[in-house]
Amino acid sequence: MQFNVAQLLKEPTGGTRKYEIDETLDDLDPELVIQEPITGKIKFTKIPQGILMVGKLRTLLEMNCSRCLEPFDLPVTIKLEEQFRPLLDLQTGAVLPQEEDADEATLIDQKNIVDLSEVVRQALLLVLPALPVCREDCLGLCAQCGQNLNEGTCDCPQEIVDPRWEALRTLLDSPEEDSEEES
Ligand SMILES: [Zn+2]
Ligand SMILES: [Zn+2]
Repeated sequence: MQFNVAQLLKEPTGGTRKYEIDETLDDLDPELVIQEPITGKIKFTKIPQGILMVGKLRTLLEMNCSRCLEPFDLPVTIKLEEQFRPLLDLQTGAVLPQEEDADEATLIDQKNIVDLSEVVRQALLLVLPALPVCREDCLGLCAQCGQNLNEGTCDCPQEIVDPRWEALRTLLDSPEEDSEEES
């Protein structure tokens, strides 16, 4: 996802370029299983400090459901807004001073290339849900036998486990065990 912005950098502030994105980025990040090309629109605008990039991109990410553990495809949309600044002064070719905490992901390199890969990678990681679910009413797995309850019920007794009853049952069970040992 690279764009040469040499011409745009020479334009006065306010100059723009628009691009349609349709790009397959397979090995962007080990945590991201990208299932279809990343598509959308981006716009570059020349600003005094460099290039302002805004965009909206979408794709499908494969995730594992946090309830039933099955893989499913999650549609995601990311909104981007980043300032890219040039590494070199276009007129003199000198290396421009950079702030100490400047992000390498938003640097325009010496060949005047803006690379959106890192910005897109970070944005995708940010939209990943902590507890993804394949569908809102996913029934998950039986806690006892592991049956996927979306695919059918199992024969496990549907016990209502209440900690107070658990404590009582432990008390009731104890004498039985003792008597078994004695016999
Ligand atoms: Zn599920
Ligand atoms: Zn079960």
